[in-house]
Amino acid sequence: MKEVLRIEGLHKSFAELEVLKGIDLSVDKGETVVLLGASGSGKSTLLRCVNFMEIPTSGRIHLEGKAIGSARNGRIAYGERELTQLRSRVGMVFQHFNLFPHMTALENVMEGPRTVLKCDASECRRRGEKYLDKVGLGWKADAYPAQLSGGQQQRIAIARALAMEPEIMLFDEATSALDPELVGEVLETMKELAEEGMTMLIVTHELGFAYTVADKVLFLSEGSILEQGTPAEVLTYPRQDATKNFLRGHN
Ligand code: ADP
Ligand code: MG
Repeated sequence: MKEVLRIEGLHKSFAELEVLKGIDLSVDKGETVVLLGASGSGKSTLLRCVNFMEIPTSGRIHLEGKAIGSARNGRIAYGERELTQLRSRVGMVFQHFNLFPHMTALENVMEGPRTVLKCDASECRRRGEKYLDKVGLGWKADAYPAQLSGGQQQRIAIARALAMEPEIMLFDEATSALDPELVGEVLETMKELAEEGMTMLIVTHELGFAYTVADKVLFLSEGSILEQGTPAEVLTYPRQDATKNFLRGHN
């Protein structure tokens, strides 16, 4: 299997607080990896370090076999342009979708290809339409975010990330801010992406989703990966007490 993302020895501290204590993980092409962990265990920090929205204190990150950056003492040897290019290869979907309110759904999806990738107008439109269709919202191309439900807005945010044609998609609790009745449509979109072979690293508390969609489940506890395995190994037969307690609280 071709490795898309590899993280080695990732440490991150905020002042005295050591949030990530040496994380090693890899995601193969087409694989869906779900990261679970209690609030405050470092999940968001881990995802943010992958595209250097947070600068790791130390560690190495490889994308498609190439070292895209290593950090020592909280510094990386990158300029703004390299960082922008790197970030365009890693799609990210957050809890709060942050669409541009003054742009239509289509314009939101075209914005990255236009401004970051400098695609020409026809390529921007092609990608915009293609990825809106992929999330089932081609018919909402001309709607503004305020005219869309939270679930639809989050699907537009997914389309916006996909339009960059990234190597990997990261999801940070993409359904946590949604009303319960809107969660399903977003999970369904993510499931379809997984089935189509998208490479994904997903933070979620949706255990049913993790069980059916993940190839591998990791449990993060206090900044370390406490256990990992197939969904059945981690979710049905967890070995560690912290994992058992977490699962008890989420059923
Ligand atoms: P999770 O996503 O698992 O809930 P986070 O990665 O958001 O966890 O946070 C892990 C720990 O790091 C928490 O104690 C949080 O308060 C702390 N933290 C996160 N970001 C910062 C920051 N920018 N400055 C200081 N502390 C932070
Ligand atoms: Mg978080």
